[in-house]
Amino acid sequence: MIWELYQSGNTHGTEKHKLNRRAWERKNANQKQSFYITIRLMKTRRRFLKECGMLAGSAGFSYLATGHHEWTDIKKKSEKRSALTLRFKPYVLHLKHVFTIAEGSRSTTPVMLTELEYDNIVGYGEASMPPYLGESHETATSFLSKVDLTEFKSPFLMEDILAYVDQLVSGNYAAKASVDIALHDLVGKLMKQPWHKIWGLNPDRTPNTSFTIGIDKPEVVRTKVKEAAPYKILKVKLGHGNDKEMIETVRSETNKPICVDINQGWTDRKMALEMSHWLKEQGVVFIEQPMSKTSIDDNAWLTQNSPLPIIADEAFQTISDFKMVMGVYSGINIKLMKCGGLRSAYTMIKMARALGMKVMIGCMTETSCAVTAAAQLSPLVDWADLDGNLLIDNDVYEGVTISDGKIILPDRPGIGIRPKD
Ligand code: MG
Repeated sequence: MIWELYQSGNTHGTEKHKLNRRAWERKNANQKQSFYITIRLMKTRRRFLKECGMLAGSAGFSYLATGHHEWTDIKKKSEKRSALTLRFKPYVLHLKHVFTIAEGSRSTTPVMLTELEYDNIVGYGEASMPPYLGESHETATSFLSKVDLTEFKSPFLMEDILAYVDQLVSGNYAAKASVDIALHDLVGKLMKQPWHKIWGLNPDRTPNTSFTIGIDKPEVVRTKVKEAAPYKILKVKLGHGNDKEMIETVRSETNKPICVDINQGWTDRKMALEMSHWLKEQGVVFIEQPMSKTSIDDNAWLTQNSPLPIIADEAFQTISDFKMVMGVYSGINIKLMKCGGLRSAYTMIKMARALGMKVMIGCMTETSCAVTAAAQLSPLVDWADLDGNLLIDNDVYEGVTISDGKIILPDRPGIGIRPKD
């Protein structure tokens, strides 16, 4: 099986790594960088705190002003100087609208901002942790505090570094993604190239991104549809008992293509099939996670009979889940926060294609950091749902932009973001 091949071929911490590390250490033995790194680190830290504080203040939000949410530097466990410095800081995203899906409502999302520094270059990362995924500021702090990169003298040892991070503690995929994204940003900056170029992807092939309309009253839905005017495809959340009213309200405003996300909200497969036929007549292009991820037979039956593709989201998280979704769904929704970051996401896209599955790339409510990172992969996917940064009013980065509904990748190196002025 392909996933078994991947796992068996995924060897880390080998003698080759140790030899490379010794060679690097010999080559750099006489470099005295620590003083310069410290000064640079303090400048970067002061600038970022100042910018975040100004943004938080302008939003009438004092979270970052408290002494509990400054950057935390990972303390080295040994006396050796670490070439890679990891920092992290909790932050809370404010949603422009209360966001309601079949699983509940919320108006904020906790995130962890990370920085990974090497040779005076800083890579940015982020963990976004909507409560239903089980991660939080506390769990991410606990996880990131365990990350000791002292042994890794070069950020280019990405496979070794990310394998080390992955095996530290099980789960914690958003926290792991925050290290993975920062490492990709750092390495891309060192290579002076954006990741879509490193991967050889054509930036002209980026898809349109959908814009999400949460479950709400008809008047609010109409307002949201008007706000979504720049977007070519809408993602409508369903599964709260008012599905037809939601779709008819959207259709009273626009004829744009729609995709729907049920978030496991349907419980009866015959009703689900009837709805899939009705939704096709309404110009819907696919259905995301119609029934519970544990209802494997029902989802497989619907996929077999539905006129629309059925996409796994809650049922698909990491590479090991391929064996659970093959033959059950038409495709998968990949999110960096579910799978642990860009390296895993890239592998999963290739695996899905080998298995003949559709691929969607999605996001949580996130800053432009994680959204722009995911957008680097978007030339490879069928559909993109990368609007998480557009749903918040206190983004601290700028990166990917949308032009006439289409994802425009920045030409900056790494993941392509920079802190907002
Ligand atoms: Mg979904």
